[in-house]
Amino acid sequence: MQRKLVLALALAVAALHPARAAGLSPAEQRIVEEVRAWSGAAIGLLERSARINSGTMNLAGVRAVGDVFRKEFDQLGFRTVWLDMPHEMGRAGHLVAVREGRQGKRLLLLGHLDTVFEADSTTPLWEREGDYARGQGVSDMKGGNVIVVAALRALQRAGALDDTTITVMFTGDEEEAGNPKSVSRKDMVELAKLSDVALGFEGLVSIDGQPAATVGRRATAFFELEVKGRQGHSQGVFGNGGYGAVYEAARILDGFRQQVAEPGLTFNPGLILGGTDVSFDAANSKGAAFGKTNVIANTVTVKGDLRYLDYAQRDRAHARMREIVAQSLPGASASISFRDSYPPMAVTPGNLRLLEQYSQASSDAGLGTIGAVPPSARGAGDIQFVAPHVDSLDGLGASGGGAHSPNEGVELASIERAAIRTALLIYRLTR
Ligand SMILES: [Zn+2]
Repeated sequence: MQRKLVLALALAVAALHPARAAGLSPAEQRIVEEVRAWSGAAIGLLERSARINSGTMNLAGVRAVGDVFRKEFDQLGFRTVWLDMPHEMGRAGHLVAVREGRQGKRLLLLGHLDTVFEADSTTPLWEREGDYARGQGVSDMKGGNVIVVAALRALQRAGALDDTTITVMFTGDEEEAGNPKSVSRKDMVELAKLSDVALGFEGLVSIDGQPAATVGRRATAFFELEVKGRQGHSQGVFGNGGYGAVYEAARILDGFRQQVAEPGLTFNPGLILGGTDVSFDAANSKGAAFGKTNVIANTVTVKGDLRYLDYAQRDRAHARMREIVAQSLPGASASISFRDSYPPMAVTPGNLRLLEQYSQASSDAGLGTIGAVPPSARGAGDIQFVAPHVDSLDGLGASGGGAHSPNEGVELASIERAAIRTALLIYRLTR
């Protein structure tokens, strides 16, 4: 009887305070209140950072956005440092903020300062329309950066940062990582090795109406196909003149399409140049071809990308593609080369456990459960460099749309929701 009464009372109280979620401890409720109290300021921080153009190649802009966030971490008692990249790399560098303690899991939080919108972009920096804002990088991923600040700030105000080990890294070149990546991502990999868990703040997406985070991302890599034929009069094609480089390239690419495809694997020839005189300018990703209709082409070059779920799938694809390349038509020959770029973030039990904890925190806060994005549905991201070393979860950022397009936008209320989920997850991971 007594228990029933208590339960009835609890339900009545919960009905009066819908914001107070039943699954949270008093300390956690305090954290949620702190996130809510700062929501207006969080939008202000988003606007300030969005109003600075920070296209990857606008190095001064990237550093200026770094300064905006650096001040926030300084205020929260983190030690901050700006890591410069070698001059010849042509990248702005990265912001790192660190605090050290002895309690719970050691966390690495990943954001990025740059956007795909370079200084000459005509996309507005910031345009607010009620509860929605459009602008350069507002969801990808200045919104995510703000969520990191908002969550850590709430934890600090609630006294829950004490004795925790948290490292924040906001890279300055996520959209076009500096080469070689063994240099531009060296510090990130080192920090990952000193951590137990990595959380990435790329946008939270919606799959069939349910919010979904990222437990796996496909690797990105490249292939280059070089095809040679015998130059000669067109009337000799199919005969003494051989098939030429263009037919050989067509045979190979169609063979790839018909014989190599499997679930989770894609390969896309993005550029092809063929004729008797071909030049390609890699830095600007463009080229020129000269040829005549009455001359058998002697050269084709193809540049493509290759995306795979794990190394076994990569190796299978390489082997089959090499086989197809080797079956040359008469009078033609070809060679293919491969180059890895982003390692795969494989779907591991550790990543799935993190998702479960994130989803639990969300539902305890009354914000619903979180599902998983299929790995093939997301492009490459920084989290992939750390995923081989630590349990990783990405997509904890803002909800919006149109990333990388002039319509990029963010649902402003999603900043608060994501900050609440993140703060609770960090709290639980660091107890
Ligand atoms: Zn991004």
